[in-house]
Amino acid sequence: MGSVQSNINCPDCGSDRAIEDYHYKSGEVYITCQKCGYYYHNVIKRDDAGKPIIVNGEYQWEEKKQHGAGIYEIHRKGGIGYGVGTLEVDEKKRKKQIQDLKEYEKKEEDITIKIKEYKR
Ligand SMILES: [Zn+2]
Repeated sequence: MGSVQSNINCPDCGSDRAIEDYHYKSGEVYITCQKCGYYYHNVIKRDDAGKPIIVNGEYQWEEKKQHGAGIYEIHRKGGIGYGVGTLEVDEKKRKKQIQDLKEYEKKEEDITIKIKEYKR
C-alpha cells in the first residue's frame, strides 16, 4: 500500500522534526516526532491476521496519541543516516531501556547510540 511521508511541525513540542506518514489508500495516518518522541496514529483496527475488522459494513478506527519522553539514535560507523527509536514514557521502563541500549553499544564496535531524553 502506498504512503506519502512529509515533514510537519510536531503537534506536541513544536519542533520541525516530526514526520507524518499518510497512507492515501486507506486514509491511515502515523505521526512520529524525532525530537520529543511524540507518537500519534489513526488507523483501521485489524485482526491478528492483519485483515481490517468490519462491523455493520464499516471499518473500525483506532486513534492513539502519546506524549514522548525523547528518542535515541543509532549511528553506524561509515553509514549514511541513522536509525531512530522512541524512548519509553514510563520512567522505570526508560531507565532499563537506556541501560540495554548502552550495553548494546558496548557490544557492537561500529555503532554509537545517542540518547536524547526530552523533558517538558
Ligand atoms: Zn515533538
